[in-house]
Amino acid sequence: VKVLAEVADRARPPQRGVVVLIYHRVGARTSVQVDLPTALFAQQVSELASSGRVVTLDAALNVLAGSAPPALDPVVVTFDDGTADFADIAVPILARYRVPAVLYLATDFIEEGRAFPGGGQPLSWGALADALSTGLVTVGSHTHTHALLDRLPATSVADELDRSNGLIAERLGAAPRHFAYPKAVLGSPAAEEVVHARYISAALGGGRANPYGRTDPHRLQRAAVQRADAMRWFTRKAAGGMALEDALRSGINRARYVRARS
Ligand SMILES: [Zn+2]
Repeated sequence: VKVLAEVADRARPPQRGVVVLIYHRVGARTSVQVDLPTALFAQQVSELASSGRVVTLDAALNVLAGSAPPALDPVVVTFDDGTADFADIAVPILARYRVPAVLYLATDFIEEGRAFPGGGQPLSWGALADALSTGLVTVGSHTHTHALLDRLPATSVADELDRSNGLIAERLGAAPRHFAYPKAVLGSPAAEEVVHARYISAALGGGRANPYGRTDPHRLQRAAVQRADAMRWFTRKAAGGMALEDALRSGINRARYVRARS
């Protein structure tokens, strides 16, 4: 799949725009593809830092709303879910290189101390508060229970988001302004309206760079970083390439999640 995606990029070079990367876990404590070895993550963060392209999500949204494309295509680092390794392993590395990141939290797991599917241990609110003290971390919402919004009625969607926002505000002192759809699955039109009313941005999958002047900030495309990307494929993803990989994988996932609830 990665080789195919590389060939597709050669045939049709990736468009310019803001690149948003999705990380899940660091430290390889679990065997899932999205749990990266620490040394590999550190190498990726080092490469990003030396590229001079990494910005906060808020800065990237300003660039997207502006009229002129910047000299360099910005890169935004995001994390999904809220596992303990974010504070233990990822944040010290991000801090070493002064790389900012957004963490989208599924708050029920944090509040209840409940493990994520695939064995991911949840963050504690205390560890998250320490991570915030670096000044590099922005917390967004990823729903309360990691619910897929394409299959919930609008009132349940509102409840998921309000519970998540309420807990983040209560435990960390400020309500989130950014959102990421669980499993990168877009909600129903009704769910999208509920999301629009609460957040200035919402993130999906898709793997492409977000083009200047014609990106909907409530439908940001993101590229997932996997263990198997190592450095070769990572560098391509950071350049906005490898979108075909995401298209193929999301087709497979969509089929797989047809009967899943979360
Ligand atoms: Zn997630």
